[in-house]
Amino acid sequence: KPACGSSPPVPTVTASQVPSLFREPYILSGCRPVQQDWRCYLLSLFQKHNESLNVWTHLLAGPVLLLRWWANVDTLGCTLDDVTSLPLLLFLVSSLTYLYLSAAAHLLQSHSERAHYFFFLDYVGVPAWRERVGVIFLPGAAFFGWLSCTGCCYAKFRYRRPYPPQRKVCQLIPTGLAYVLDISPVAHRLLTVSWSQEPSLPFHALQIACFLLSALFFSCSIPEPFFPGNCDFVGQGHQIFHVLLSLCTFSVPKQIHKDSVLISPLDGSLCLFTFPVHSKHAPHDKLHTASFKSATGQVL
Ligand SMILES: [Zn+2]
Repeated sequence: KPACGSSPPVPTVTASQVPSLFREPYILSGCRPVQQDWRCYLLSLFQKHNESLNVWTHLLAGPVLLLRWWANVDTLGCTLDDVTSLPLLLFLVSSLTYLYLSAAAHLLQSHSERAHYFFFLDYVGVPAWRERVGVIFLPGAAFFGWLSCTGCCYAKFRYRRPYPPQRKVCQLIPTGLAYVLDISPVAHRLLTVSWSQEPSLPFHALQIACFLLSALFFSCSIPEPFFPGNCDFVGQGHQIFHVLLSLCTFSVPKQIHKDSVLISPLDGSLCLFTFPVHSKHAPHDKLHTASFKSATGQVL
């Protein structure tokens, strides 16, 4: 095995020198050799390779998210005995979970094919956790959470490189359905309520735009096809997808806060898959806001 640790990091290699599982289209260099010691992959956090930005974008998003929450803790609130704080807590925990599982997956998956599948399937834990919450508040969201996870796992095992378009379909259709369900109350408000009446609506619109853009970069893996070999370290579509997903995450606490200030009654017809919360609309609606974000974390 190549040495690492006290010695300089093992140099990266070209795509042709790693198994096809670790090759990304139009990324020609910057690959870490497989079958090194685990420590090498941990230390590669400080090395320049083609997964560096994928790791760091999600690694740094966690502290930024916590700092944003901390800066607004007086207005956002976060007490365990207050049911209206529950969506925010769920959102924070599920976001940090997906961010750090994603960072770990991108950092360590190059060890071997077994490691690749093991780390990317850790995401099963995220919808499993959501499902426990979902059966209480949003069974429809929980169902689609499991469906999108199943679709991603199936696509991972079923298809080998070069990947056919069906692979993206398996990943994106269930996740898209989960997103449509989760966003439906917000979309209804965006279309029917004056934006000046609800201060959260511009944030919701911004987040939807970020999400749709992130889906575009995830599904099309652009711009690397136009610049083969020039996006090996910086500029890959997946990196842009990570940044946009992080921006979506950052905007959610503010939306949840603003939603708690002024909530319009929900249209029950748009929430067919959800339990009605008769006593108060706010927790239900805030959970939707948090939920549709966490649904996006399952596509890596
Ligand atoms: Zn990723």
